[in-house]
Amino acid sequence: MNLLPFGKLPAAKPRAFVPQTIDLGDWPQIAPLFDQLESRAANCKSAAELERWLLDWSELNAALDEESSRRYIAMTCHTDSADAEKAYLHFVENVEPQLKPRQFALEKIYTAHPQRAELLAIGTPASGTARTSNNEPCRRPAFRCYAVFYRDVKNHVELFRPDNVPLETDEARLCQQYQKLSGSLTVNFRGAEKTLVQMARYLEEPDRALRQEAWKLVAKRRLQEADNFDDIFDRQIKLRTQIAKNAGFGNYRDYAFRRLGRFDYSPDDCGKFHDAVEKEVMPVVRELQAQRRAQLKLEKLRPWDLSVDPLNRPPLEPFAQVGEMVSRTQKIFGRLDGELAAGFRQMDDLKLLDLDNRKGKAPGGYQSTLSESRLPFIFMNAVGLQRDVETILHEAGHAFHALATRDEDLLPYRSAPIEFCEVASMSMELLGNEFIEEFYPASEVAQASRLCVPNQKHTGGTPVPLKSSDANRARRVHLEGIVGVFPWIATVDAFQHWIYTHPNHTRDERRKAWLELMDRFGGDADWSGHETARANLWHRQLHIFLHPFYYIEYGIAQLGALQVWANSKRDKAKALGDYKKALALGGSRPLPELFAAAGCRFEFSARTIRPLAKMLREELEKL
Ligand SMILES: [Zn+2]
Repeated sequence: MNLLPFGKLPAAKPRAFVPQTIDLGDWPQIAPLFDQLESRAANCKSAAELERWLLDWSELNAALDEESSRRYIAMTCHTDSADAEKAYLHFVENVEPQLKPRQFALEKIYTAHPQRAELLAIGTPASGTARTSNNEPCRRPAFRCYAVFYRDVKNHVELFRPDNVPLETDEARLCQQYQKLSGSLTVNFRGAEKTLVQMARYLEEPDRALRQEAWKLVAKRRLQEADNFDDIFDRQIKLRTQIAKNAGFGNYRDYAFRRLGRFDYSPDDCGKFHDAVEKEVMPVVRELQAQRRAQLKLEKLRPWDLSVDPLNRPPLEPFAQVGEMVSRTQKIFGRLDGELAAGFRQMDDLKLLDLDNRKGKAPGGYQSTLSESRLPFIFMNAVGLQRDVETILHEAGHAFHALATRDEDLLPYRSAPIEFCEVASMSMELLGNEFIEEFYPASEVAQASRLCVPNQKHTGGTPVPLKSSDANRARRVHLEGIVGVFPWIATVDAFQHWIYTHPNHTRDERRKAWLELMDRFGGDADWSGHETARANLWHRQLHIFLHPFYYIEYGIAQLGALQVWANSKRDKAKALGDYKKALALGGSRPLPELFAAAGCRFEFSARTIRPLAKMLREELEKL
C-alpha cells in the first residue's frame, strides 16, 4: 500500500552507481556500496576520477536520504499506520547507526586523497545540461568549485575525538530529559487538564482576567520545576565544556562556532548584533508597546497583555478550505514571478503539497526535500488562520530553494547553510505579503466609499490598488512579529555567550546575567510581583538546552530577508532576479557570497540594522 501522498516522481537523473533494484532499507544490500567506494578511492589517479568517485558517493547519499524522507513523510501523513511507523523506525535503528562510521571513513579518505588538491584547484565544468523549468539558461555557474565542500568535510574530520563519543551520548540523554520534563508539564485550567502548548491560545483571549489567570498558572507550574531545569543545564554545561577541551578549545563557545561551521562570522560580530538590536530595534519595540498600551487602554502592559489583538477583534479568516489557500497562494506567486509560480504549480500537480489538517496526521509543518528526485514536499496542518498563510509562503520559499538547485549533482551543494536557507523562506513571507489582498479582497463597500471621498487625488491611468484593512492587519501582525523577535534572539544568544565563557558560574550569577539581558531587551512590560518567573524565563527556550548557540541564524537570515524586501521596493524585477540567482547557488559558496548574490550585505552591526529598523517603522506607520 502506498502511504505517500504523491505517486511516481520524475527522475532528476538516471542512477549511475546505485543499482536500480536495491532495497535502501536493508543494510546488507547497502554495505557493499560503501565497500566499493572505499576500495575504489585508491584507484582514482586523476582529479576527474576523484570527482566521479565523489559524485557516486553523492548519488548514494541522495538515494539514502530520500528513502529516509519518504518513510518519515509516510509516517507523519498516517500516524495511525503501524506499518508506516515500523518502516521509519527500522531505518532509524538499523540503517542510520551503520551509516555514520562508514560516512566518516569516506570523509577521511577524501580529505587525505592525493588528487584532492588538484580537484580543488581546477574545479570542473558542472555537469548536466543546465536548463531551468522555463527552458531559460541556468543561472548556475559553469564551474563547480570544491572549496566549500572540502572546508566542511575537513572541519568535520578535524573535530572528531573518540573521547567525545560517550560524552555526546550523555549529552543527548540530558537533552531527552529536558524534552521529557517540558513535555510532561500540564495545568488544571477551569476543570480541565491542559498542556502548556494548549494554554498558549488563552493569551490571545480578549478577556483580560482570563489571560492573567492562564499566564499565572503556567508560570507557577514552570517555577515548580525550576530546580530540575537548572540541574539539567548545570550538567550540560559541564559536559559541553569537557567536550570542547577534548577537542583542543579553550571554551565551548569557540568549539560550538567551529562545529556549526561558522567560518564567516565571529563571536565579536554577534556582540555587534546585540548592541545594534539594543540601539536600533528597541526604540521601535517600545513605540509599538506604547501604542498597544494605549489601544488596550491600560496604564501598564503586563506579561499577559502581549499577544492579544489590541483592538479585541476576532481572528482573521483568510480561507475556509485548503484548496482556496493553494489557489490564492498560486495567484500571489503568479503576481510575483512566472518561474516561481510554475514551480509551485508543479508541486501541486505532483501532489507534493499535503496541507490540510485531518485525523491521523502528525502536528506541525515542515518542508522536506526528496534528495534523489530533487523535488520539495510541504507538510502542514492548515485550519484557516493567518498563521497558515505565513507558513505556506515560508515553506514555499524553502521549496523554491530546492527547485533552484535541481541541476547540481553534488548533494551537499543542493542545500545552503541555515543562515541563508531562512533568507529564502523569510523573503517569501515579505514579498508574498505584498499581494496578501488575494486572501483579503477589499470589499465593495470599501471600494465604493473610497470612490466617494471628496478631494480624492486622481492620478489618471491605472487605478491605485486598494489595500483592504484585513490585509493591512495581517501585514501588521507579521511586521510586529519581526520587530519583536530580534530582541529575543539577542537575549538568547548573548546569554549563551556569557554562559560558556563563564563555565564556573553559580546559579545566582546566571540569574543575574539573564536579568541584565532582560533589562536590555525586555521592553516596557511590567513584571512586578513575578520577578522569579522573569529570572527563570530562559527555561522555556528549548534551543538553550537542546541546540546550544543555534538561534542567531534566524536573526541573520531575517536581516537578509529584510534587505531583499527593501531591494524589491526599489526594483522588483532585479530583486527577484538576484533572489533566484542566489538560491540557485545552493551551498556552493560561502555565506557572504550567497548574501551578495541576493543583493544583501552579510554584516549585522548598526550599519545594516539601522536602515532596516527605519524601514520597518515607516512600513508599520502606513498600516
Ligand atoms: Zn524555515
